[in-house]
Amino acid sequence: MSLPADLAALRFDARFIRSLPADALDTPQPRQVQGAVYSFCAPTPVAAPRLLHWSADCAALLGLGTAPLDAQAAAEVFAGNRLLPGSQPYATCYGGHQFGNWAGQLGDGRATMLGTAIGADDIRLEVQLKGAGLTPYSRHADGRAVLRSSIREYLCSEAMHRLGVPTTRALCLVATGEPVLRDMFYDGHPQHEPGAIVTRVAPSFLRFGHFEIFAARGELALLRQLLDDTIRTHFPALGAPSPEVYVAWFGEVCRRTALMVAHWLRVGFVHGVMNTDNLSVLGLSIDYGPYGWLDNFDPGFTPNTTDRGGRYAYAQQARIAGWNLSCLANALMPLVQDQAALEACLEAYADHFEACYLAMLRDKLGLLQEGDAEADFKLVSELFACFAAVDTDMTIFYRALARIHPDTAPEAALAELAPAFYAPPGAGVLAQFAGWLMVWQARIAASPEPAAAHAARMNAANPWIIPRNWLAQDAIKAAEAGDLSVLERLMQAIRDPYTEQAGCADLAGRRPDWARNAPGCSALSCSS
Ligand code: AMP
Ligand code: MG
Repeated sequence: MSLPADLAALRFDARFIRSLPADALDTPQPRQVQGAVYSFCAPTPVAAPRLLHWSADCAALLGLGTAPLDAQAAAEVFAGNRLLPGSQPYATCYGGHQFGNWAGQLGDGRATMLGTAIGADDIRLEVQLKGAGLTPYSRHADGRAVLRSSIREYLCSEAMHRLGVPTTRALCLVATGEPVLRDMFYDGHPQHEPGAIVTRVAPSFLRFGHFEIFAARGELALLRQLLDDTIRTHFPALGAPSPEVYVAWFGEVCRRTALMVAHWLRVGFVHGVMNTDNLSVLGLSIDYGPYGWLDNFDPGFTPNTTDRGGRYAYAQQARIAGWNLSCLANALMPLVQDQAALEACLEAYADHFEACYLAMLRDKLGLLQEGDAEADFKLVSELFACFAAVDTDMTIFYRALARIHPDTAPEAALAELAPAFYAPPGAGVLAQFAGWLMVWQARIAASPEPAAAHAARMNAANPWIIPRNWLAQDAIKAAEAGDLSVLERLMQAIRDPYTEQAGCADLAGRRPDWARNAPGCSALSCSS
């Protein structure tokens, strides 16, 4: 059967596999892969592929249409049942520090790269199937993914993009028609769940762990080869690779990581598993597993039940990203031989993060960018103390704040904030908020910026809707019962996250009580 014209037109650029060494074996037999960056490995066909969703936004990047010409052909291609001409699928080798400990070889255990597609305007984008079956890196696992985690990854990839957060993208979601056995809470109750595959898209899926593995094994020629290729392909502005350029590259990874984490804090995102194998050298948010969003503002919140100590909690993320960057610096040391230069980058990382975060906090509060940093941080920490005094929904709070003007009376201002509270605040808490508001209103009143301008700036930094876990959970429950309309409605709403959408007010409210401690909402595991 011939391919429909849209898929037939997709072209691949074999540069990656031409430039870097492949594993000599091409079977999915689990093994330690030495001396190679990747292993050729075909996706394992699935029983009954069915297209569940298609992202028109992501499709446009690849020069594809708002809907595939033939949904069944697209399902077969993006389930891995049918290979496109020019696609030579492979899985890559990487390692990683997991929860602070070196874990050795990990690799694409259930992700198969179809190749680097040549997209619209000639851009190069790697196209990867997540959940496409065994690879040499699958270790003891099955290479598959369940529908619930695939919906979560698909939804979040596209939502993050629209929220303005650097991220890998997702082209489509395909049901495999095959059951997958998972013990969702690792409590000895495995169950069969529907399987699915997400097609992910990014300029590169290279992680810190891709560089760590070769350094750990002492494969320095390979490390240099991968680094040189990464710089030439993805960071050409840095110039021809040399030890000085390696330092400049590391500095750039630090800057991008700082910006990414600042965005996470801005929108209330908790990644959940910030192991070094889950951090991208392009500074993209990657691997959406047990992630979550702040409903009530709780700096110690993580939805990941595997992370009992809260290593990857909301407010730890900037520090942990710095720790991960220091692992990457260690991996580069043999090539750079200049510890002081790498340490300077790490110090600059902390400063850059603070600058990015402060700029975003100022936008969130409508403060001018050139204000007194110390005074602005003080205003923020006093606000966070208010948030801690009563469970406050951060997202709802900031949108309400933009509706308060310098001359809004205290009672009216507090009434504006009321929908942000999970419990009725007592008189003391209300007085604390009122005190903070007076200071904030005085700051806004003293600003030369017109009220409409600062409110617009606030609303551009403060999303009206985020894909909260309970919203994803609703979409998952419906999809598991065969109804995709809930997912479709959510996907539509998150395409315009900074605009109030009258028909979607039910998606922008506080977390409902049922979701407070519900599995899939406040509690998620890595089982996916
Ligand atoms: P994660 O915690 O999802 O980032 O995964 C850590 C490592 O486990 C990566 O090497 C994944 O490819 C691998 N992995 C996770 N789930 C599976 C699975 N179902 N089959 C094979 N490998 C997996
Ligand atoms: Mg991962």
